[in-house]
Amino acid sequence: MQGVGFRPWVHQLARTHGLSGYVLNSTLGVTIEIEGSEAAQLRFLDDFRSHPPPLALIDELYEEILEAAGFTGFEIRESLSAPGEFVLVPPDIATCDDCLADFRDPANRRFGYPFTNCTHCGPRYSIIQDIPYDRRFTTMSEFRMCQACETEYHDPADRRFHAQPNACPDCGPWVELWDHERLLSTRAEAIRETRRLLESGRIVAIKGLGGFHLACLASREEPVRLLRERKRRSDKPFAVMARDLSVAEALSHVGDADRAALTSIRRPVVLMPRRRGSTVADAVAPGIGWLGVMLPYTPLHHLLFDDAGFDALVMTSGNLSEEPIASRNEPRLYGLADCFLIHNRRIQTRVDDSVVRTFEGRERTLRRSRGYAPHPIDLGIPVRQILACGGELKNVFCLTKEHYAVLSQHIGDMENLETLEAFRETLDHMKRFFRISPVAVAHDLHPHYLSTRFALSLEGVERIGVQHHHAHVASCMAENRLEGKVIGVAFDGTGYGTDGKIWGGEFLVCDYAGFERRTHFRYVPLAGGDTAVRQTWRSGLAYLRDAGVDTGFLAEQVAPEAFGVVQTMLSRGVNTVETSSCGRLFDAVAAITGVRLEANYEGQGAMELEALAVRAALPIAEAYPFELAGGELDFRETIRCIARDRSRPELVSGRFHNTLAHAVTDVCAGIAAEESIQRVCLSGGAFQNFHLLGRTAGLLRKAGIEVYLHSRVPPNDGGLCLGQGAIANRRLADASW
Ligand code: ZN
Ligand code: ZN
Ligand code: FE
Repeated sequence: MQGVGFRPWVHQLARTHGLSGYVLNSTLGVTIEIEGSEAAQLRFLDDFRSHPPPLALIDELYEEILEAAGFTGFEIRESLSAPGEFVLVPPDIATCDDCLADFRDPANRRFGYPFTNCTHCGPRYSIIQDIPYDRRFTTMSEFRMCQACETEYHDPADRRFHAQPNACPDCGPWVELWDHERLLSTRAEAIRETRRLLESGRIVAIKGLGGFHLACLASREEPVRLLRERKRRSDKPFAVMARDLSVAEALSHVGDADRAALTSIRRPVVLMPRRRGSTVADAVAPGIGWLGVMLPYTPLHHLLFDDAGFDALVMTSGNLSEEPIASRNEPRLYGLADCFLIHNRRIQTRVDDSVVRTFEGRERTLRRSRGYAPHPIDLGIPVRQILACGGELKNVFCLTKEHYAVLSQHIGDMENLETLEAFRETLDHMKRFFRISPVAVAHDLHPHYLSTRFALSLEGVERIGVQHHHAHVASCMAENRLEGKVIGVAFDGTGYGTDGKIWGGEFLVCDYAGFERRTHFRYVPLAGGDTAVRQTWRSGLAYLRDAGVDTGFLAEQVAPEAFGVVQTMLSRGVNTVETSSCGRLFDAVAAITGVRLEANYEGQGAMELEALAVRAALPIAEAYPFELAGGELDFRETIRCIARDRSRPELVSGRFHNTLAHAVTDVCAGIAAEESIQRVCLSGGAFQNFHLLGRTAGLLRKAGIEVYLHSRVPPNDGGLCLGQGAIANRRLADASW
């Protein structure tokens, strides 16, 4: 990969061992020739294997003995890159310890400088305009390096050798603090003043690496509530930035894998169980059991926390509700923040914070963006050049080439033109960076998704429609490099089915070439499609009616007029859709137990149920009865039991999770016996619920079934594109036979 300081590191190592030769980057990888005594060569190889540089991801290492060429000295050769070749573009990397030491050292020329970076850290993808990765093709081209920076840049022994964004207070970008009208302060004073504003409870928009954050104290209710009001975001959890690991540990229960994720060079937001009685305001993540925490990842963040009167800040994407994250010094955020800490290093590509959760000791990506994108996923098999457009919510697209899938950063919910524009811009960029001209475009079957419409508008490429849940399962297969047939379990909120109905509780037998829908949740008619996602009581009503339970208790909790209208719609079958959605079943349970009758964001009811199940004082082992017949999972008896137990939400939630886990296991065991397939892939947004995931994976393994989960791509719709790409690739291959 370019820009990770690999060649200077090799150069240093060779010199240490008194070897001559060269190091060269090419699209085949890195070539190193060393010449010298055998002992020195062996020591070099030993060091090379045991302590590679921090950012080098070495896939494979080949060695070969060559004739001596008589090198004099060791040199770094210019990289060779021919048009059409695949070049790896590095993601943005958190500030390294050496740079941290630099800007905290009063004697260093970068003391207190918020844009300190080196070959091991700093902005990359967010500032790259074109390749090769070279300063003149980044937004740093606007700044001319001073003599001191220039010297570092050209010195192979320096940590900043060829560090493209290299800068210092004399020659690089700076920060300014503005209110709505005027410049308040610049540089060090701007940072001090921002700290004071935050301490006094103000909301400050802070321009960061890949976009703006809106920041305020995490420990006080009022600023967080005010931020919610201004952002028009009532309950959806906010991420928190903690000063350091010890603060993160005071706020949440940090496991070993969480600690590794928190402190990794990618610095994602890590969802962890919240500590009771921590100092975080309730308004940060109301009603749910976990807290999203990240650590500072730019010098600016570290400077804000140094000597500050706070330990944790709410740091949420600076965007208007539903719009992509703001990245320019523009007035879009005027209504949201009191003040603006901006800088003059332009952001070429918007990149949101990534979100992960850990499970069974491994990082599980829920939103793959900053620090990860656009690092490719090696599929282990050759692929054609394909664009896969992804879905609608949490859109991510991917491009495939050679044996890689390059996933875009998180684009957002493709429900408006701003997001579509962000999609287009990023696509143009990535096509150029990776030199990919797709021969085919893969898309969801939903005719109204903007991503589908975009795909269908493309000329001169083969268009390949992929069923939503098939794509979910194929995505899990692709990241686990599975070939052949698997049993796919895809549980989510909404996906367009081949029968025109809304699917979401699906059991498939599939490979990349095709799928067979073996079992699904019983269809239930739902009134008002998308409205039902927000008004979860509609799901409650639909499932209660379907199960033949008296709905009087639910009616008491809903506005009578609306309730009557929906009753009529359901009775007459007007404006109803049939759905086998797992998400709506969760909504129904949340509504019946009174946990959530109206959702303020997608999946809120399910998250609150998960929190209740986890919090239950005693582990709940029992499950409710359900029926399985004729390829249909029927939860009517489950619903009747839940209605009976509804006054005890914790108990219901625990039992309901167990019920689903048992249902999955029964269905999969049946298919496994019939088809002799022992591999199950679990995918779909419902498996972001780790209580469900844990119970289900546990029971499946007990039944002797191999379980495959997501880890590098999200189980939610953010991972769809990878599955679409894998399926399209197979169809192209089959068609050319
Ligand atoms: Zn550094
Ligand atoms: Zn300088
Ligand atoms: Fe989905």
